[in-house]
Amino acid sequence: MNLSAILAKKFFEYLLAEKNSAQRRQNAGRTTPLLPPWASAAEAFRRLCNGCGACAQACGSGIISMDKDGFPIVDFKQGSCTFCGDCARSCLTGALQFDPEQKPWTVAARISENCLLGSRVLCRTCGDCCEHGAIHFPLAEGRRPQISPEQCTGCGACVSVCPVGAVSLATCNKGE
Ligand code: SF4
Ligand code: SF4
Ligand code: SF4
Repeated sequence: MNLSAILAKKFFEYLLAEKNSAQRRQNAGRTTPLLPPWASAAEAFRRLCNGCGACAQACGSGIISMDKDGFPIVDFKQGSCTFCGDCARSCLTGALQFDPEQKPWTVAARISENCLLGSRVLCRTCGDCCEHGAIHFPLAEGRRPQISPEQCTGCGACVSVCPVGAVSLATCNKGE
């Protein structure tokens, strides 16, 4: 192979790596839009939320942003939820209602078929990040991790750490 062919090959490999990396960043934390914790049921939430953004400003973890329609959504690409309740306490309209006696949400992690273990590549990153021991790794090779819905709090700590964006959170907010 002559020099120009080697350089062309290297350049192609570089472009491919960049493309894969961009795709991973894009995939990381991709979820169905998730309302902040202690949100009212979706319909009531849309009626009550005036888009003031107080919840997003109150979130010390920086995981709440406003969507294109002006409603708050949780994005685990920036971090995880500590369930401090600051977002819900800052809401004056009742769209979010902090109640320590109530579960903040019914959300659990999901692992897609993109998981590296499905390709027999060793990875336990999500499990290492889960403080709640909710991610279980089957002994059989090529099997994806299993999430225990009883142990998963929906904190989202496992989302951004997955190198292939295979973890997402499925939501079922109060009353849905
Ligand atoms: S409970 Fe705390 S960490 Fe979680 S979204 Fe609300 S303000 Fe952010
Ligand atoms: S971090 Fe991602 S690739 Fe690794 S085991 Fe978990 S889901 Fe699979
Ligand atoms: S969302 Fe939190 S509790 Fe659930 S599996 Fe991920 S890290 Fe564990």
